[in-house]
Amino acid sequence: MFEKRITVIGAGPAGCAAAVQCARLGMVPLLLDKTGTAGGLVANAFSMENYPGLEPISGPEFVQKLEAHLARFGVPVTRARVDRIARSANGFRLTGEFGALEADAVIVAVGTVSKTLEIPGASTLAGAGVYNEVRQQLDQLRQDRTSGRDVLVIGGGEAALDYSLSLARAGARPVIIVRGAKLRAVGRLVKLVEEHPAIQCMYDTTPLSVGREGDEIVLTARRRGDQRSELRGAGVTVAIGRYRAADDLLDSLDIDLNKGVSTRIPGMYIAGDARFGGLGQVGMAVGDGLFAAMAACRYLNAED
Ligand SMILES: Cc1cc2nc3c(=O)[nH]c(=O)nc-3n(C[C@H](O)[C@H](O)[C@H](O)COP(=O)(O)OP(=O)(O)OC[C@H]3O[C@@H](n4cnc5c(N)ncnc54)[C@H](O)[C@@H]3O)c2cc1C
Repeated sequence: MFEKRITVIGAGPAGCAAAVQCARLGMVPLLLDKTGTAGGLVANAFSMENYPGLEPISGPEFVQKLEAHLARFGVPVTRARVDRIARSANGFRLTGEFGALEADAVIVAVGTVSKTLEIPGASTLAGAGVYNEVRQQLDQLRQDRTSGRDVLVIGGGEAALDYSLSLARAGARPVIIVRGAKLRAVGRLVKLVEEHPAIQCMYDTTPLSVGREGDEIVLTARRRGDQRSELRGAGVTVAIGRYRAADDLLDSLDIDLNKGVSTRIPGMYIAGDARFGGLGQVGMAVGDGLFAAMAACRYLNAED
C-alpha cells in the first residue's frame, strides 16, 4: 500500500472523484470537509440532467450516489475545516480548528462561497430566516411543517430559478425578487419557471432591509418608480452569485487559480469550482478531481 499522505480538501463532486481515484491507485487519501458530509453544492440542485449516462436526478439523490461511491472504496469523510495551507519542509501543513496536519500532496476542492445579502437585518437573520443555500430553507420548511407559504428568493440567475423550482416542489410558493427588468438566466430553467403556476417573478425590485415579525420574514424593497413595498414570507433564500473559496485559503501561496489543475507548487492541485468559480458544473468538477488524483499519484511515485 502507498504510504505517502495525500489530503483532499472538500468532499463535493471534485473531492469525491479525486479521493476515489486515489484509493483506486493504491493510496489512502484523507478526505476532509468542513460539513463532515459528502456532496457539496450539488445537494441544492433541483434536477441534474447534464451528467453523461445518468437519467435526470435531483441533487439530494446524486449526493446519495456519491456517498455510496465513497463507501464502496472505503473512503470516509472527516469533518475538518481547513483555514490555511502553507508549505512545510516535507510538503504541506494544513491548519484549522482541528489543529495541524502534514501532507505530501494536497488537492484543493473547496468549491465556492455564496455572496451574502448586504442590507440591514440580513446578518442578524443569517441561518434563521435568511439562507444562502436552498437546502437550509427546505430544512426550515420541513421543521415548521408548513406548506403553501410564500418564500422570497433573491436573484435573477440560474441558481435563483433552480432554488425556486426546489421550493415549489416542496409545496412553497416562491417569489423571485429580481433587481433588473428581466431574468439573467437563460434556457430551459426560464421556461420551467415561467410556466410554473406556484412561482412568480417581481422585476425592478431592490431589497432595502429585512426583519422578522413573528414567524414571518419581512423584506422592505424599492420597486419601480421609487415606490416602497413590504414583502412577506416564511424566509428569504439568497442567490446573488458565488466566489471561489480558495481565494481566502491560498492567499499566502500566490497560486493563480486560472492556470489549470496543476499549480506552480509541485504536489498541490486545484480541482472543480475552486478554480471555475460560479461557472462550474458537476462533470467539470469530476474531470478535474480525476486529473488531480492521477497527477498527484504520479508526482508522489516520482518523488520516491
Ligand atoms: C442550484 C444549483 C443547481 C445546480 N445544478 C447543476 C446541474 O444541474 N448540473 C451540473 O452539472 N451542475 C450543477 N450545479 C453546479 C454544481 O453543483 C457544482 O459545479 C459542483 O457542485 C462543484 O463541485 P466541487 O466539488 O468543485 O465544489 P462543491 O460542490 O462546492 O464542494 C466543495 C466542498 O468543499 C467543502 N469546503 C469548502 N471550504 C472548505 C474548507 N476550508 N475546509 C474543508 N472543506 C471545505 C464544502 O463544504 C463542500 O462540500 C448547480 C449548482 C447550484 C447552486
